Amino acid sequence: MTFKVAIIGRPNVGKSTLFNRLVGRKLALVDDTPGVTRDRRVHAAKLYDLHFDVIDTAGFEDAAASTLPGRMRAQTEIAIREADLIFFTIDAKSGLMPDDKTFAEIVRKSGKPVVVVANKAEARGAQGGMLEAWELGLGEPIPVSAEHGQGLPDLRDAVISALGEARAFGEEEEDADDGAAASEVLIGEDITDPDAEPSYDDTKPMRIAVVGRPNAGKSTLINALIGEERLLTGPEAGITRDSISVDWDWHGRRLKLFDTAGMRRKARIHEKLEVMSVQDGLRAIRFAEIVIIVLDATIPFEKQDLQIADLIIREGRAPVIAFNKWDMIDHPQELLAELREKTERLLPQARGMQAVPVSAETGRGLDKLMDAVIKTHRVWNSRVSTGKLNRWLEGILAHHPPPAVAGRRLKIKYVTQAKTRPPGFVVSCSRPDAMPQSYVRYLSNSLREAFDMPGVPIRIALRTSE
Ligand code: GDP
Ligand code: GDP
Repeated sequence: MTFKVAIIGRPNVGKSTLFNRLVGRKLALVDDTPGVTRDRRVHAAKLYDLHFDVIDTAGFEDAAASTLPGRMRAQTEIAIREADLIFFTIDAKSGLMPDDKTFAEIVRKSGKPVVVVANKAEARGAQGGMLEAWELGLGEPIPVSAEHGQGLPDLRDAVISALGEARAFGEEEEDADDGAAASEVLIGEDITDPDAEPSYDDTKPMRIAVVGRPNAGKSTLINALIGEERLLTGPEAGITRDSISVDWDWHGRRLKLFDTAGMRRKARIHEKLEVMSVQDGLRAIRFAEIVIIVLDATIPFEKQDLQIADLIIREGRAPVIAFNKWDMIDHPQELLAELREKTERLLPQARGMQAVPVSAETGRGLDKLMDAVIKTHRVWNSRVSTGKLNRWLEGILAHHPPPAVAGRRLKIKYVTQAKTRPPGFVVSCSRPDAMPQSYVRYLSNSLREAFDMPGVPIRIALRTSE
């Protein structure tokens, strides 16, 4: 399912030019004479990775002074009714005219999502028109030059924020709260994510799981974080064999803690000790957004710890390491440096991972641990605009372009961020199959660095550019 866009605006603002730009062909007539475009047409269009239909409307005329000619107005209203999204186009060079306000009023009444396109933005003096466009009250004007093809990355992002990600990518809306939609995404696969949210929402509870080997100190840590009483009463309600969750808040930030063997054990004191198997861990991980890996600092990084960390990263969750029992360490500074170095070396898939020394028993370091959790969650949710990504890409192509394979240089056309949670990017290129893994890794590391996204998995999907 795709969506339909109507390009609306008074005559001569550049609607046909924009239409041609999106459709990629010279279809509509472009002319300096107002009202040259007469027929309404629908055509397949694309804006980077967004595919949609665009309706070309007849130029609106305001020939009869204050009233719009009935036919034009009717056509416009039909186009608006048919559309899922409106590109309300103004001429930034000439600034707002009384007609712009008349059309804006029709658009506003429709209640449809709108992107204000401030066209001719490359022209001298367009800045003033841009500012005026705010007065329409239809949202932020996006500076575009339909004629020169400028400002299109920001237009693409504006479409996504106006429509919502699910809609923009032609996906059905899904309940974003089920939390269990853990899908593994590999290079080359479709990474469009209906679960992703358009922007960071910190009013929803952040879902956390605590995992680690038996005796690492998970129960002690959970108790210290949420308090003994809460743990004893919390998990009782609606207990099921497989999932337990506790809601609490940390300095006003709402959190939801999921299912761990440690919680079960404390909640049901008589139950015999359970071993936290990789299977148990997997279930907890799937429900969580952030996973705290508790390591016993006196015996860190055993094979199972690494397996769990690897699983978290492959599931697209964001790991945070707690080096527990720090009260027992004699040379904390040396050990911390050593452990952090090891973390980078053993888990390069999520370079820059947060790793915090704590003592669950004394409570030291817990504030820092939770700060690290909240920071990581933010990074996991982060979004980079298409404009920034493609400026970054220009630098990459200038200084470290893809190699030639079998005598032909691989080309990269553009990069967009298709999803968050974790950040996922689509790289549009010639011959995705030929792109070496080492170059994809280079792109991923460079993205991580350029846009400050430490410690979370980053996905890259390669697409064929047409
Ligand atoms: P419409 O009546 O809204 O469909 O407008 P047109 O697409 O026919 O464009 C009207 C005039 O504006 C034409 O002369 C175009 O060449 C010019 N125009 C369109 N887009 C731009 C732009 O981005 N910059 C400048 N400077 N002129 C543009
Ligand atoms: P779990 O199996 O991971 O839930 O581990 P527990 O929370 O049951 O802790 C295992 C053992 O480690 C218990 O004897 C705890 O008292 C001890 N322990 C947990 N955290 C700390 C800590 O920060 N410092 C010290 N010295 N001991 C701890």
